[in-house]
Amino acid sequence: MSTATGVVPVLALEGVSASYGPYRALFDVTFAVPPAAVVAVVGANGAGKSTVARVVSGLVPASAGRVVLKGCDVTHRRAFEITRMGLAHVTEGRSVFGSLTVEENLVLAFRRALGRGGLAEALERAYEVFPRLGQRRGQLAGTLSGGEQRMLALARVLVLHQDVLVVDELSLGLAPVVVDEVYEALGTVRTGGTALVLIEQHVNRAFTIADSVVVLHKGRVAYDGDVAGAEERLDELVLGGSTAKP
Ligand code: ATP
Repeated sequence: MSTATGVVPVLALEGVSASYGPYRALFDVTFAVPPAAVVAVVGANGAGKSTVARVVSGLVPASAGRVVLKGCDVTHRRAFEITRMGLAHVTEGRSVFGSLTVEENLVLAFRRALGRGGLAEALERAYEVFPRLGQRRGQLAGTLSGGEQRMLALARVLVLHQDVLVVDELSLGLAPVVVDEVYEALGTVRTGGTALVLIEQHVNRAFTIADSVVVLHKGRVAYDGDVAGAEERLDELVLGGSTAKP
């Protein structure tokens, strides 16, 4: 599969379906993420956004279709293999070890990914991107604010130079000023060559850095195209879910 511009995508979903027991959450979902691009995946509650993230990262199996990462079919690979192949998933929620310090959380993540080599550089880079975490490096992660915990969850994967970063509901429940900070960090990741799949309910913020938009409606792709086209018809697409290409 290649994108409309002929670029080989770093990540592609090809006719993906997925279910939770008898409940079907995704129907024939197809879209592609070009290298270093930002694709915003938006939709109403229950539209299937998080399920897309879980399927591409190997947490939920696809019942039909294919997930292709850097040209390799990863549909039936396990989550840790997919991570090793270059896709990181920052899940919804805080997902940090509350009883460990900020630095211990980072060291744990970086050691697992990098071994001993590169640890000091990775820590330095994390504190450069999120100075607030540097100031709190000795603090227990469980005592950080919600926004700081999201930053820590993000910092654990940001500096690993993955090919694709899937970020689920980054701005959920965060103060606007904190959202600004995390989006600034995402901007730096993107300039480093990592593609982003941004799953957001608050679409306006995601649209500021997105190159393209996928709108999901009841588990199906209702729109796959540029930001301007999505903005123009967002209410209709999110609520009505007409199946349209721009
Ligand atoms: P939200 O914005 O509310 O997080 P979403 O677009 O991320 O929603 P998903 O979490 O992907 O939606 O859920 C898609 C559908 O699958 C929903 O109807 C949801 O109830 C169902 N679903 C999600 N997780 C499970 C699960 N573990 N077991 C059963 N059904 C589930």
